[in-house]
Amino acid sequence: MSRLLFWLALAVLVVFAIRAKIQAARARADRANRFDAAPGAVSPAEGGEAMTSCAHCGLYFPASEAVRADGLDYCCPAHVRLPAP
Ligand SMILES: [Zn+2]
Repeated sequence: MSRLLFWLALAVLVVFAIRAKIQAARARADRANRFDAAPGAVSPAEGGEAMTSCAHCGLYFPASEAVRADGLDYCCPAHVRLPAP
């Protein structure tokens, strides 16, 4: 009788493990589909941050790290002083 309970418990564990794997794969596919729907778009809800480009060299970087001068964004203080190309 204890052998039967052992195999029954093992079968239940295997079923739960397979269901958890399937749910994780579906969640991953849903996230990938959402990302494919809007290429380049990063929603702030997913931890994304707005990006901006340097007015001098064109480098893209997080807007929170921008050096702002005369209404323009620069990647570093040195590029603020250099003339626009
Ligand atoms: Zn720059």
